[in-house]
Amino acid sequence: MIKFWRGRAVQRVIFALLGLVLAIGLTVIPAFSQTPPNPFRVATEATFPPFEFQQGGQLTGFDIDLMRAIGKEADLNIDFRNLPFDGIIPALQARTVEAAISGMTITAERAQAISFSRPYFRAGLAIAVREDNQTIRNFEDLKGKRIAVQIGTTGALEATKIPGAVVSQFDSAALALQELINGRVEAVVNDKPVTLYAIKQAGLRRVKVVGELLTEEFYGIALPKNSPYLQLINDALGRVIESGQYDVIFRQWFGEKPPELPLVAPALKNLQESRFNWGELFYNLIVKGVPWTILLTVLSFLFGLIGGTLVAIALISPYKWLKIICRIYVDFFRGTPMLVQLFLIYFGLPGLFREIGLNIDLDRLPAALFALSLNVAAYLAEIMRGGIQSIDNGQWEACSSLGMSPVQTMHEVIFPQAFRRMLPPLGNEFITLIKDTSLAAVIGFEELFRQGQLMVATTYKAFEIYIAVALVYLVLTTLSSLVFKRLEIYMDPLHKSKQEQKA
Ligand code: GLN
Repeated sequence: MIKFWRGRAVQRVIFALLGLVLAIGLTVIPAFSQTPPNPFRVATEATFPPFEFQQGGQLTGFDIDLMRAIGKEADLNIDFRNLPFDGIIPALQARTVEAAISGMTITAERAQAISFSRPYFRAGLAIAVREDNQTIRNFEDLKGKRIAVQIGTTGALEATKIPGAVVSQFDSAALALQELINGRVEAVVNDKPVTLYAIKQAGLRRVKVVGELLTEEFYGIALPKNSPYLQLINDALGRVIESGQYDVIFRQWFGEKPPELPLVAPALKNLQESRFNWGELFYNLIVKGVPWTILLTVLSFLFGLIGGTLVAIALISPYKWLKIICRIYVDFFRGTPMLVQLFLIYFGLPGLFREIGLNIDLDRLPAALFALSLNVAAYLAEIMRGGIQSIDNGQWEACSSLGMSPVQTMHEVIFPQAFRRMLPPLGNEFITLIKDTSLAAVIGFEELFRQGQLMVATTYKAFEIYIAVALVYLVLTTLSSLVFKRLEIYMDPLHKSKQEQKA
């Protein structure tokens, strides 16, 4: 027994467990204690000017100045954490941040998952259209139209209620506006001050705001449900408003006198039950999401195989220029992140085409397929080149002495052997591709991952939903690896000869 406890492995496990308990204690205890932690972590999504954005590498904006003033009043050492907007509520629930200030509208649904401070800003939604658009003037006119919004926002919620509207959801308001400029949607529904700021200050061209404030919304500072610091923040915010500091910050950013603010947001008066059910989750993931994930994977793998084969042949050809061009292509697509490639193709190319007078528009599916296939082809080309070159050169000579042509040699002798060697890396590539299709979510593609994200944005059940998403991916990748394993066994000559012996 003593020997057992003295064992090195056992000691290591005990130390690791002690470390884990200590680490959990250090993160959990401050959440329950009443003295505010130092630093006091505040989440924000810094692509929402003039409320929060980066300027010259510094975080700035109305919310940032206000939160800093609140921090001073409450004696808090504020540490801002930049998060995606739809990740803020889950982060508060997980208590990885103590609060959030991010132009977040106080809504009854959100108030069930988190707590809000008293309102600190009066805003509302507005419709943005291109300057030459004369047909959209109000919410009624948006029926059946193509609309871009930011995921998880009140704008997204309102847009999805419009009958017949086709709504594309992006990670930031800026990307939704880019979609409008690129001409793929007819309108953007977003917070009015942000759209106005983008047009006036950030030089967003060819876009105008139509309609008055569609809704009246109030922003609040968000905290985890029953946070012990709610009172502290509310008191400090009250002092910032009453002492006139609020007035100064408001005028600095909006150049006018601030409006009156209520003590409680009107939205909190009609609390409704937020709905989450597993049936709906699995319906959305499996029926709505999985088919797109499979389609994206299978088609881009197929295009990648065709493109990859051609590039591999070019790479082993004797033509120097062809080789150089293909090498640059392969190195570019393997050496840059797939996410950047997707943005480049979807958001960048249409602008470039327009600048040079071409009216080519890439829709979401072709853009995603294009980016994924180009990326996969680069990897597959290398796998194939390696596979073909791994076959002994002597075989080419032997075939040629038997009078076989190079095409015949490749087809009948080299490729069948090389293919067997390529199968395991090809299988890996396929599995990587299944997972990489989730990147298409950033261009608003509603595949498996995006379906999960959309549900988190309305139900705030991040853990349950993302675990379900992960499990569905796991099923897809496990099934694919089984298929590739079978294929490997099937292609194995030993297996074949055994089969023949049996027959
Ligand atoms: N006010 C909107 C909301 O709360 C948008 C906020 C944002 O994008 N930062 O949904």
